Amino acid sequence: MPLPLENRVALVTGASRGIGRAIALELAKRGAHVIALARTQGALEEIDDELRAHGQEATLVPCDLKDFDALDRLGLAIHERWKKLDIFVANAGVLGPVSPLAHIDPPAWDNVFAVNVTANWRLVRSLDSLLRASDAGRAVFVTSGVASKAETYSYLGAYAASKAALDILARTWAAESAETSTLRVMIANPGVLRTNMRAALMPGEDPMSVRAPGEFAPKVADMCAPDWTATGKYYDFKTDSVRAFRGPA
Ligand code: NAP
Repeated sequence: MPLPLENRVALVTGASRGIGRAIALELAKRGAHVIALARTQGALEEIDDELRAHGQEATLVPCDLKDFDALDRLGLAIHERWKKLDIFVANAGVLGPVSPLAHIDPPAWDNVFAVNVTANWRLVRSLDSLLRASDAGRAVFVTSGVASKAETYSYLGAYAASKAALDILARTWAAESAETSTLRVMIANPGVLRTNMRAALMPGEDPMSVRAPGEFAPKVADMCAPDWTATGKYYDFKTDSVRAFRGPA
């Protein structure tokens, strides 16, 4: 029996650890060929080893997302090899400074926006035609609840603003593609998951008190399937629900 994502090509950013690693493994488990992008080559090779043990292989892209020209080259390389891309999971992200806005150093601010926002726009630009060339292109952007909760999360201003920008980027792309292609674009909020980023933010927290990335990954994989229909919507893992964005009344 064919696997549900067989013959589908999936790019996952931030695949070296945490949520992206879990998503990459889940997509591969469902039959997709995974293009795994992150800076840490050794960690990407470990994913490849794990997949090879199950008779699969990944394409590894050791790359810094701030190398924007490399993201253009990645689109060209995908075009040359597959002529299409079926799945794009924009997962990589950085937390950045945990600090009052007025105390953030400009380079630290720029780094957060380069990785969390501009790199994703550059990937949209590089991958748009490839995803439209798929019979059922799917994109999932990993956001954060802090994007809409400034009052609860002081001192995460750079991160929160970048994720709010990412949300509107994804929603705009969804609106631009909804009528003219089969591309579907989702925004997914993992809530609190046991990763390095969470540990950096909450060093005193018992890691075992929060859920593992492997629990969230199947939900993202569902949104990557050809039978997924929603676009421009927000998936919330905590409530396991899909909802529309609500603006001010
Ligand atoms: P993580 O463990 O810190 O992993 C971040 C991933 O992003 C790593 O694979 C890292 O790979 C990659 N990355 C960071 N900077 C990069 C760069 N310049 N170029 C290429 N890759 C880069 O964090 P995580 O918790 O899994 O976070 C994944 C996503 O979930 C992020 O977008 C985060 O904002 C979001 N999120 C997480 C939580 C949570 O509770 N964990 C909650 C809400 C949202 P390399 O270091 O190898 O490059």
